[in-house]
Amino acid sequence: MAKVLVTGGAGYIGAHACKALAQAGYTPVAFDNLSTGHRAAVKFGPLVEGDLLNRAAIDAVLAEHAPIAVMHFAALSQVGESMQEPGRYWRENVLGGLNLIEATQAAGIDKFIFSSTCATYGDQDGVVLNEETEQHPINAYGGSKLAIEQMLRDFSPKGLTYVIFRYFNVAGADPDAEVGEAHDPETHLVPLILQAVAGARGALTIFGTDYDTADGTCIRDYVHVSDLVDAHVAGLKWLEEGKSSEVFCLGTGDGFSVREVVAAAAAVTNGPVPIEEGPRRAGDAVKLVCGSDKARTQLGWTPSRSTMPQMLRDAHRWHASDGF
Ligand code: UDP
Repeated sequence: MAKVLVTGGAGYIGAHACKALAQAGYTPVAFDNLSTGHRAAVKFGPLVEGDLLNRAAIDAVLAEHAPIAVMHFAALSQVGESMQEPGRYWRENVLGGLNLIEATQAAGIDKFIFSSTCATYGDQDGVVLNEETEQHPINAYGGSKLAIEQMLRDFSPKGLTYVIFRYFNVAGADPDAEVGEAHDPETHLVPLILQAVAGARGALTIFGTDYDTADGTCIRDYVHVSDLVDAHVAGLKWLEEGKSSEVFCLGTGDGFSVREVVAAAAAVTNGPVPIEEGPRRAGDAVKLVCGSDKARTQLGWTPSRSTMPQMLRDAHRWHASDGF
């Protein structure tokens, strides 16, 4: 079976990608430094422990496994933290990405799938974002992801073909609850809401209630993680068919405010969500909604599980399980 290197394969999205790749007939080789990932999340192929800042380790895994393609998920990925520690974000995400791209090319692998983000767009009020929208990131996380997009463009005349996926709020969990979301510390809205409902922590703090939106809270576009990784497998097939390097946005086009997600979670879990209102979080854009017409029409992507109730139900089932 053809192998695919999955950086960050022990992380939330990477582990789901490994499952989708295995189901599609590939062997996923997870490459992860386990700084935030979980050994137990690697269930669908081998785990190679290694760090993207170590070029020799990347060369070694590529030589040992000879993958046909690379899927690059490994990254520091928290907006707030990236404002506190910008140097770490630029060093680990950008230098790590450069090492990986150079090693990929040196190994003669010409297919690269990159996990990018709508955070590369910055704060563009009232705009439905798509592939043509100009990118002006407002935090180090978005900046570091944009830098890797630019690198891929610069390397493509040298024979590297790529698919860049820009997405924002990934939620939910594998409907079979084999893998799910487990960050420590957790910073993402949906798992924090579920922890608050379960009494595993105090109230959820809503970061900012004075934004210029209908209910004063930020609006995001939430995509089910299993839909998201399906697009990555479709992107791999796209490159295997010899098609051109492309950027695809992955979202539903529907925006949900923080308060709307809280209300939906209360309905799904049958429990009140204890909340408290807090100040804005640095680096947060008001509204990020991501159109996906191009992915739907060209890639044939259908986000069939990305309704808010299903994302919350699947996340809830996972959080109620033993986890990793
Ligand atoms: N958010 C919040 N309280 C929290 C965590 C997140 O109000 O404890 C808000 C955050 O300000 C943003 C949205 O929920 O508007 C989604 O944040 P998350 O960190 O999940 O993802 P991001 O949008 O930063 O990628």
